[in-house]
Amino acid sequence: MAAVTESGPRELRFAVIGAGMAGILSAITLKDAGFTAVTVYEKADRLGGTWRENTYPGLSCDVPSHLYCYSFAPNPEWSHLYSPGPEIQAYFERVAEDHGVTASCRFGDEVVRCEFADGRWHLTTAHGVHDEVDVVIAATGVLHHPRYPDINGLDSFGGAMFHSARWDHSVAIEGARVGIIGTGSTAMQIVSGIVDRAQALTLFQRTAQWVMPTVNPAYTAEERAAFARDGRLMEDLRNQVAQLFDAVSDGIIDAGSPQMQMIEELCLANLENSVTDPDLRERLRPDYRAACKRLILSPDFYASIQKPNAALVTSPIEGVEPGGVRTADGELHELDVLVLATGFKVDAFVRPISVVGRAGRELDQAWVDRPEAYLSISVPDFPNFFMLNGPNGPVGNFSLIEVAELQLGYIMQLVERLRAGESRQISATMEAMTRLEAARVEAAKNTIWSTGCRSWYLDDRGIPAVWPWPFSQFRAEMAEPKWEAYELR
Ligand SMILES: Cc1cc2nc3c(=O)[nH]c(=O)nc-3n(C[C@H](O)[C@H](O)[C@H](O)COP(=O)(O)OP(=O)(O)OC[C@H]3O[C@@H](n4cnc5c(N)ncnc54)[C@H](O)[C@@H]3O)c2cc1C
Repeated sequence: MAAVTESGPRELRFAVIGAGMAGILSAITLKDAGFTAVTVYEKADRLGGTWRENTYPGLSCDVPSHLYCYSFAPNPEWSHLYSPGPEIQAYFERVAEDHGVTASCRFGDEVVRCEFADGRWHLTTAHGVHDEVDVVIAATGVLHHPRYPDINGLDSFGGAMFHSARWDHSVAIEGARVGIIGTGSTAMQIVSGIVDRAQALTLFQRTAQWVMPTVNPAYTAEERAAFARDGRLMEDLRNQVAQLFDAVSDGIIDAGSPQMQMIEELCLANLENSVTDPDLRERLRPDYRAACKRLILSPDFYASIQKPNAALVTSPIEGVEPGGVRTADGELHELDVLVLATGFKVDAFVRPISVVGRAGRELDQAWVDRPEAYLSISVPDFPNFFMLNGPNGPVGNFSLIEVAELQLGYIMQLVERLRAGESRQISATMEAMTRLEAARVEAAKNTIWSTGCRSWYLDDRGIPAVWPWPFSQFRAEMAEPKWEAYELR
């Protein structure tokens, strides 16, 4: 840790970029800690992030709702074990309103540049607004920038076409021939969400997915009343689910673990028992290990894809034509609507914001190979710039709310040093980041994600760009900063 030269407590001014789950959390936490100069910059016209942008039919969380909510704002009213998207959006809006976050938000303006000069961050927005702050919390999301597939003739499609995160509700699904490209969690949810409405549904599958069986029961009015009466019931439930997720996460980091074997067996039994047609069953059978790609949890995907109006197409897509999708077997699949459930650019993080750190160091340059940050939070020479859900953190089948809460608890300890005047500039040292990254890459090679599948977890080298250790280790790491990993000026 470098010598500290400043002293005396000081007022700090904050910019939080993004008013999704993590930005709302940041604003509430900063306010609770007594900070009053906080502006949340949100480029959209309202908060919610993921849950504002994704409105496709069938959308729900796939982490149980009583875990997929803030620890300080349990919600007795969750309708289901996995509640639908609009309910989650309403939850975030309500929590933000209850905690006075909305008043700190500046909507409809995108932060385009953050430059560190004279010991402060200078922000510029697309509308030309300038702001000067001591600390930036980047809560710009991970699954945020839609990824469009590179398919011949895509733009020539004559029907309606949109990305799953840009669902066009003016387009009728009823009576339409709908094609869906992609087989991630989103595509699976859409299949179940529209199969009973569409005249015909065609799922274009490049890679089959393992599907973990689950159920999604509604909470009864009595159960919800009991949750409202006695908060401990929700706490107990949350803890139980968290423990289960911890056990699974511990298994994922060891490809040979009993947990992975159990998941594999459950997924295999689900496929064998739920899909009756042997040909369809074989086409739905993945050729890699369960949980290598993000595990799909679905109560009804197999039932939906077996409906008479549903078809699974496994012949590779050759191109898109005005009338539909042409596959390599020569067939033209005629469509009225084409849904691109093709995921997100997962390595953008805070970009495309132009971030310039100490001595003119550009983040784009620092990340020229791939994004890196010490514990996903801090980048050397970008002092007082802290990321939530930054590079190489725990993603996958976790609650990202829990992840963000832990990260923010850690960031607040860095911020307290600034407030106390013990330091004016805090950023991770290059040595700490490089050492941790080397260990992370080594550990990642033993995980289930490295067992030979193509997934969005993998970076350009084929290394899973995620936290490769048990979740308990992440929790322990987030409990308190190792100060020797930081340069404090
Ligand atoms: C379909 C789908 C389902 C999911 N289901 C789950 C689940 O079940 N469980 C789970 O844990 N996670 C799930 N996730 C992940 C989900 O993204 C996170 O749980 C969480 O919502 C992320 O919150 P965030 O605030 O970090 O990012 P986001 O929700 O992406 O919010 C980022 C915000 O920042 C704003 N922003 C970005 N750049 C700028 C800028 N330059 N200037 C101003 N504003 C900016 C954006 O407009 C956005 O509002 C899901 C994601 C998707 C896409």
